[in-house]
Amino acid sequence: MIRHISSISKSFSHLLFPENCIHCETELVAKESFICTKCKTNLSLTFFENYTEPTKMDKLFWGKISIHKTFALYYFEDKTVVQSILHTLKYKNNQQIGRQFGRKIGEKISKIYDFNDIEALLPVPMFPKKKFSRGYNQAEILAQGISEILKVPVQQTQVNKLKDTISQTKKSMLERWESSEKNFSSILNNTSYRHIAIVDDVVTTGATFESLVKVIHAKNPELKISLITLAITK
Ligand SMILES: [Zn+2]
Repeated sequence: MIRHISSISKSFSHLLFPENCIHCETELVAKESFICTKCKTNLSLTFFENYTEPTKMDKLFWGKISIHKTFALYYFEDKTVVQSILHTLKYKNNQQIGRQFGRKIGEKISKIYDFNDIEALLPVPMFPKKKFSRGYNQAEILAQGISEILKVPVQQTQVNKLKDTISQTKKSMLERWESSEKNFSSILNNTSYRHIAIVDDVVTTGATFESLVKVIHAKNPELKISLITLAITK
């Protein structure tokens, strides 16, 4: 009965405030959330959870840094539904979408053996000024959704100074989607964790993860580090 009432009230609120698909702008029906059913079928899942051989994401870090396990939920290409999700998460002040997709990531990785002993999730830090103007760090919002499923804490990251060492104009269109901060300091000094997962919204070249992992491993050489993103460029 309660369920029935809530579905009626949801339909009613749809009539008053119709919500539209964030990608194709079709009006959503009651059971849809952010994305219409048609666009949902166009989301390209990586299926990395089923891989027994190294994935494209694993290979990004070969010979550069030591990573325990990686996971990305979707492939990201220009003008796709995944781009609309990232755009809504980054620029539309929509934290609900981040938590929803964070939970989707959590459901996938809860079935992967190598992620079983994760003790904390570390969102890629955002330059304080940027966080202030946007109001939130999208990596942190995704981490909160993952945390709801995995029941591990989100480690707050405090970063004093960050510099963007590569000018935005020198990057390709797709590279610009990756977090631009390349210099991290004072993160996880002498942590007691044995295994953490760093979370970001998208990975393109892997340069952000690379610099962050180097800083953390310099202070905690034994720490197992895994990497989790919503999307990886195809
Ligand atoms: Zn749609």
